[in-house]
Amino acid sequence: MTPDTICSDDDDVRPTRVEVDLDQLAQNLSAIRRHVGGAKVMAVVKANAYGHGIVPVARHLITCGADSLGVALLGEAVILRQAGITAPILVFGGIDEKQIPRFFKNDLTLTVPSLEKLRLIDTAAGAMGVKARIHLKIDTGMERIGIHYYSAEKLLEASLQCQHVEVEGIYSHFANADAEDLGHARLQLERFQDVITFYEKRSLPAPLRHIANSAGILQLPESHLDLVRPGILLYGVYPGTECARSIPVKPVLSWKSRVAYFKVVLPGHPVSYSSTWQSDHPVRVVTVPVGYGDGYFRALSNRAEVIIAGQRYPVIGRVCMDQIMVNLEQGSAYNGDDVILLGGDITAEEMANWAGTIPYEVLTNINTRVPRVYHHG
Ligand SMILES: *Cc1c(COP(=O)(O)O)cnc(C)c1O
Repeated sequence: MTPDTICSDDDDVRPTRVEVDLDQLAQNLSAIRRHVGGAKVMAVVKANAYGHGIVPVARHLITCGADSLGVALLGEAVILRQAGITAPILVFGGIDEKQIPRFFKNDLTLTVPSLEKLRLIDTAAGAMGVKARIHLKIDTGMERIGIHYYSAEKLLEASLQCQHVEVEGIYSHFANADAEDLGHARLQLERFQDVITFYEKRSLPAPLRHIANSAGILQLPESHLDLVRPGILLYGVYPGTECARSIPVKPVLSWKSRVAYFKVVLPGHPVSYSSTWQSDHPVRVVTVPVGYGDGYFRALSNRAEVIIAGQRYPVIGRVCMDQIMVNLEQGSAYNGDDVILLGGDITAEEMANWAGTIPYEVLTNINTRVPRVYHHG
């Protein structure tokens, strides 16, 4: 599907849809902003805005005062530019040399994790007659991308010599800021602060310094620095079960469908592939048009619940690619009744527990076959 259908606001496309509450999104952004005082807010909208739909979400966050956007991939940033979004966009991921001109053409900010990449970018910018806007990436304990904190000085030094780059920022990323024990996160912050003394020592103005993801924002106020990078918290979900809930946010997304079929299932007639479920008495069962082909995990088979008319009912048998079956027992439901898969009191956390994963994956896994519908309040 194209980005346009991802962001369809036509709620007749399919009875199965994701509803996104833009007012709640704005309230979450304000709550975060209040909590971080003067720090700038870079709204993280990678992975289709954590499943919420990248273009409408990014546009609304900018309208509501987010200072900039963060994405993982060049392609995500290009989608935002093509939609007419002009706010600064930082691409977090590692870059391929071939991609560099595209960054410049789209006025995007590059992450520079090594001397080698710095030189490639400086050379390419010189050749194209542009100034590359970059953020240096320091690895303080994640071992993903970034120059190690203990070798970072040479990257900072080299960046001062480059003619065709502007170092707008310098950043790092926490590996354990959601834990109850913040020892490792504090160590990472110390290492980062130590790297940044480079500028002070030379009486140079420091670029924008940032390290805090949602967990850092919630648990380590001293990590807010010049800018924070909330992702999951914007969407009203807390990063982990151990993490402090020091900012009141609420979920923005609900995932709904409608009853497509009703029947009575008799004893001795197992339900769905591999016949993993059967009843010893007649039960009322409805079929709902959602499945693992939409990102409703197959691991939810015989584990998840859904809400119909305010009542919770279990998903029975295997989740199929496009359909699930729900046991009403003696309850009642009619074709066309709303079915809440995620939302109400079914949280991304609860669904993650059923499926044996984390809320991040629950949200980002809802794929583009499911239309997104936007509303206020
Ligand atoms: C994904 C990401 C974030 C946001 O993380 P959350 O835990 O969702 O807040 C921030 N910074 C970087 C570099 C990221 O990759």
